Amino acid sequence: MICKDKRCPFHAKLSTRGRIFEGTVKKISPGNRAVVEFPRVIYYKKYERYVRTKTRIHAHIPACLSNKIEEGSKVKIAECRPLSKMIHFVVIEIKK
Ligand SMILES: [Zn+2]
Repeated sequence: MICKDKRCPFHAKLSTRGRIFEGTVKKISPGNRAVVEFPRVIYYKKYERYVRTKTRIHAHIPACLSNKIEEGSKVKIAECRPLSKMIHFVVIEIKK
């Protein structure tokens, strides 16, 4: 299936580079934007403790993946060039 989305990493010239995360889709906003959340453990040096936190990242959903994504599905996102003020990640894979 070929999509006409210019911000598609598979069918358009959107290159991904940098970091890759896996997380759960918490919300799908209009305009093919997904809020992806994943747990993270950070270390507070001052208090000498590990703390569990969550990170939320806004990611663009390419048109060819948009009908396969639901809230709660696990996805893989990759860093790309900034697509808007909030979005500099794109969904590259859907896990079952
Ligand atoms: Zn595509």
